[in-house]
Amino acid sequence: MTNISERLAELQEESAVMIVLYDQDDRVQYTNAAFRSTFALEPDETPTWAELMRRNTKAGRGTIIRTTDFEAWLMSAQSRRGKLPFRAFEMDVVDGRWFWMTETVQRDGWMLCMASDITHMKTSQRDLRQDRDFALRASQTDELTCISNRRFMMAALENMIARQETSALSGCICIVDLDFFKRINDNFGHQVGDQVLIDFARRVQPVIRRRDSFGRIGGEEFMLVFPDTTLEQGERIIDRVLELVRIAHPLPALPGFSYTCSAGLAELKVGDTVQQLYARADEALYIAKQSGRDRLKIAA
Ligand code: GH3
Ligand code: MG
Ligand code: MG
Repeated sequence: MTNISERLAELQEESAVMIVLYDQDDRVQYTNAAFRSTFALEPDETPTWAELMRRNTKAGRGTIIRTTDFEAWLMSAQSRRGKLPFRAFEMDVVDGRWFWMTETVQRDGWMLCMASDITHMKTSQRDLRQDRDFALRASQTDELTCISNRRFMMAALENMIARQETSALSGCICIVDLDFFKRINDNFGHQVGDQVLIDFARRVQPVIRRRDSFGRIGGEEFMLVFPDTTLEQGERIIDRVLELVRIAHPLPALPGFSYTCSAGLAELKVGDTVQQLYARADEALYIAKQSGRDRLKIAA
């Protein structure tokens, strides 16, 4: 009798479909030969997705990235990547091939990506499809920081609440507001203020897990959505964020400059609406501001 899993492993290796498995930290855990040859990966390597993209872009290999600012592209791509149970989109690679990429994400964050070659499929509507993809991305992305915008975050929040009944673990959300931001603008100018907002986004993005969502929901106000996460786990992540911001000196021209932020964390309760959960996090943020800023408060 044939061993099914061995045969499956052999066929995966032989398949022209590119197959890659990422763990919850977005680190490569399995690839087949088709994937490795397109992305110049050795069988024993386990880079993160971001590392793989960075080095391929530098070497002019792999996915075509239509931007001159790689880091901004990365932020934007990471703000959408692996947040939903399933996603599919077109992708083209440097050698001219086109792929239909699917992402399937498990609750614990492991993600299977498979990409089939569609280069020879009807190309006439490719421009139209690409325009549509760009428009969709733009409608979900904050232009200044390249992370998710308010619309995407509200959808992420709705999504977490909608899945609540089927989940044993609940989740939590956090609203973070930069402290005395008006003063930063007044003292150093609006452009420096913008730089600080970008700095904040870039510091937080690497701290959150792939399944979490992070976006800018207002001027200097940000939101994090942590599905299947306890208050204690959420607290640990936010404490790290506050610490990273506290020690940051983001302005090369002003090496003595630093800034802080305040945060309100709230746990999802059975029967919560988006508004109720949001209001509790906002209330906790208000208390954090009232009690001296640069701190996290947890909603009762
Ligand atoms: P607090 O610690 O209580 O939050 O004080 P604050 O000064 O941060 O809060 P306030 O709400 O008074 O000021 C927020 C400021 O953020 C006012 C507004 O001009 C500025 N702002 C909003 N959006 C942007 C932006 O996109 N870029 C810049 N540079 N500033 C912005
Ligand atoms: Mg503020
Ligand atoms: Mg504010």
